[in-house]
Amino acid sequence: MKGYAMLKIGESGWIEKERPKCGPLDAICKPLALAICTSDVHTLWEGAIGERHNMILGHEGCAEVVEVGELVKDFKPGDRVLVPAITPDWNSLEAQAGFSMHSGGMLAGWKFSNFKDGVFSEFFHVNDADGNLAHLPSNINTVDACMLSDMVPTGFHGAELADVQYGDSVLVIGIGPVGLMSVAGANLRGASRIIAVGTRQVCVDAAKGYGATDFISYKNGAIDEQVLKMTDGKGVDKVIIAGGGVETFSPAVKCLKPGGKIGNVNYLGSGENIDIPRVEWGVGMGHKLINGGLMPGGRLRMEKLSSLVSAGKLDLSPLSTHVFEGWDHIEEALFLMRDKPADLIKPVIKI
Ligand code: NDP
Ligand code: ZN
Repeated sequence: MKGYAMLKIGESGWIEKERPKCGPLDAICKPLALAICTSDVHTLWEGAIGERHNMILGHEGCAEVVEVGELVKDFKPGDRVLVPAITPDWNSLEAQAGFSMHSGGMLAGWKFSNFKDGVFSEFFHVNDADGNLAHLPSNINTVDACMLSDMVPTGFHGAELADVQYGDSVLVIGIGPVGLMSVAGANLRGASRIIAVGTRQVCVDAAKGYGATDFISYKNGAIDEQVLKMTDGKGVDKVIIAGGGVETFSPAVKCLKPGGKIGNVNYLGSGENIDIPRVEWGVGMGHKLINGGLMPGGRLRMEKLSSLVSAGKLDLSPLSTHVFEGWDHIEEALFLMRDKPADLIKPVIKI
């Protein structure tokens, strides 16, 4: 079978590999549509997970099941499925402790294009099919379905980590596709004012649609100063971080009210430490919580998140700004995600 792979850091291309084998609990799937992620860019060009040779890329897509193991109960060949980016081992101790995304070690629930071949391939392997796959609802198209692999679960996890409650004022730092879903998640959880940080107009427009009420550019001065100014010095109840780098934590702490919470879903690719400003952290006693996490996967979560789309509560169509048809466009879409032109949110390829 053919797959589009990371040949080494900074180099990618098509390769031939053997079709993966199906274990008793597993499924083999073929893609219906695929999406490119900023994490693919970090992996390939920034060496975010270290050197990898001939590893097939990709962890976002939806698919048709072509084979299942003899112990799989709820899926059969021909089923159309949602495929989460994170596919934990559900019988691990970490999963039993409530942190399935770290099953087998820190971040080890992330398997596609990390520890094993990803989904940019004619066929790909899914471990623990009953626990990880979800049936694709008939009223969700394959392009929107790709957003349920990672963008929705990750963005929404930001709102969960920040513990957004009814009436909270929320600052969302970064409004790429992940941050946009954090805006949508915060809005669904009842946030009042949602202040969004980003500059690309296409993202600002989408953020408005998802419930952002105010906008800030990180290029126009310190984020905390802008937030404090627009909140009469009070700051916000919650902060979700979905963009920028380690430098975003200090302003986040500075404009967070005592008792506030920060939920980070951003990948921090450089810098040794995160700076927590001593005074604004209440000299150690401000009850300002900093939390960060990899998205939770799992069938139940996929079913619940997709039910928001099915029920008309969450419109994913603004995210897929560039839709291609056919395998030949994978490379073009990947390079587009790296270069992030002004009109791009997400590139998707229908197979
Ligand atoms: P994008 O690059 O599309 O968006 C990043 C956003 O951050 C943009 O709005 C950008 O603004 C803004 N930004 C850039 N620099 C700064 C800065 N210095 N201060 C404040 N904001 C800034 O990324 P994605 O939305 O695709 O992904 C966001 C992050 O989430 C990535 O790091 C990705 O790897 C990570 N991720 C994490 C997952 C998890 O499970 N935790 C899963 C998937 C992704 P502008 O409008 O100017 O471009
Ligand atoms: Zn992703």
